[in-house]
Amino acid sequence: MSVLDLARPDIRNLQPYSSARMEAGGGQIMLNANESAWAPNGDGGLGCNRYPDPQPEALLQSLAALYGVKREQLFVGRGSDEAIDLLVRAFCRAGEDAILIQPPTFGMYAMSARIQNAAVIEVPLAQDFSLDAHALLASVTPAVKLVFLCTPNNPSGKSISRVDIEHVAQALAGRALLVVDEAYVEFSSQASVVDLIDRYEHLAVLRTLSKAWALAGARIGSLLASPEVIALIRRIMPPYPLPLPCVAAALAALSPAGQAAARENVAIVQGERAMLQSALGQLPGVREVLPSDANFLAVRFDDAGAVYQQLQQEGIVVRDIRRYPMLQDALRITVGTPRENARVLAVLNEIMLKKGVA
Ligand SMILES: *Cc1c(COP(=O)(O)O)cnc(C)c1O
Repeated sequence: MSVLDLARPDIRNLQPYSSARMEAGGGQIMLNANESAWAPNGDGGLGCNRYPDPQPEALLQSLAALYGVKREQLFVGRGSDEAIDLLVRAFCRAGEDAILIQPPTFGMYAMSARIQNAAVIEVPLAQDFSLDAHALLASVTPAVKLVFLCTPNNPSGKSISRVDIEHVAQALAGRALLVVDEAYVEFSSQASVVDLIDRYEHLAVLRTLSKAWALAGARIGSLLASPEVIALIRRIMPPYPLPLPCVAAALAALSPAGQAAARENVAIVQGERAMLQSALGQLPGVREVLPSDANFLAVRFDDAGAVYQQLQQEGIVVRDIRRYPMLQDALRITVGTPRENARVLAVLNEIMLKKGVA
């Protein structure tokens, strides 16, 4: 059996859209795509009058080297959000198939499924936010085509061990595609499981330049998977997903100087995360700071709603995650610059002191 047997039959048989850019390139006089012959004002040599390469070779090469995969194991899209959406579209028949997620987790898996009218099967994480592999595997019905694991998990910050991921991958062979979302893996002490895609054709890994690579505004995310899955996704991708200025920004970030800067910032975040973890834990009114492998901390408060509002009054915006199961008293605080973090601590200190007096 091939992993493609899990995909929608109509998508497997779909004749992909053939864009002008795909059919022919490399000529000197390009009159095949109804583009303007003139570069726009302020173009800076980018050539934005032309449609971009759907999967630009230079970017594919850079990202394949970065992630340690072959080019045919890599799809680059507008953030990993787009890859999530394309996976759901390719594998889930509307009104029939399902995805499986482990709440509390990232919201886009369920969102994409609902847009596709695929069912969402929720198997909660264990009380300590670790993977409940037994419960997960017991809930995989024939309708489940995609199983999402997020590691480190958003919003809890906890990682899933490689052993557990491989255990789930082995159990899902021939049954469902396992999608491991590693949006925050650069901040973790735990290594990526991307090398496992060579061993499991039904394993896919999501990576992004939005977090550790400081490019949330450029929307560049990757799907790493078997060449069969990647080819299937390329059949249904939008004709020109990657804007030229975004590709240029990504290439600059991936240059040796860019990589050095990113590594430096990740190290700062890791140091600040440890500092915040300990300092927040000592504040009165803080019940618990969940240990985190990501660039944020989930923090439980005696009165999270009041803290959220008071932080906002001081111009500090954090994420209210009280709507997530098991986190009904928690806020998610992203690690900022050392100055920003110091300010957060100072304001929280003040808030808690006032409470103590009142
Ligand atoms: C931020 C985030 C993403 C990111 O997505 P992009 O679309 O690449 O910006 C993916 N997964 C998780 C869990 C995230 O928190």
